[in-house]
Amino acid sequence: MDSKEKEEIRMAIEEKVNELTSRIKDLQEATKPMGLDNAVGRLSRMDYINNKTIDEANLRQSESKLKALQRWLSMIDTDKFGKCSRCNKEINPKRLLFMPESTHCIQCASR
Ligand SMILES: [Zn+2]
Repeated sequence: MDSKEKEEIRMAIEEKVNELTSRIKDLQEATKPMGLDNAVGRLSRMDYINNKTIDEANLRQSESKLKALQRWLSMIDTDKFGKCSRCNKEINPKRLLFMPESTHCIQCASR
């Protein structure tokens, strides 16, 4: 990876961090325990529970992506940046640009 690619990836990471941070905030809000004021009717309560399950799954997924991105940012100036956390080979820069939360190369990710 050359310095131009690295800079592009860094920008992609930062963009995604911002996106995920606001998404996590929304999801945390959506998965808050429901107050009595909002407990209207059985049907909406069931909707609420269904949505909450989906939102909680999204929240966990977003948090783990954010963690992976922060991990990249913390090692951006080290020689570990862009390397697969399993086999230590360089991850294809195009893959990182497209999916900056990747921590594995394509070979390891598909294993
Ligand atoms: Zn690998």
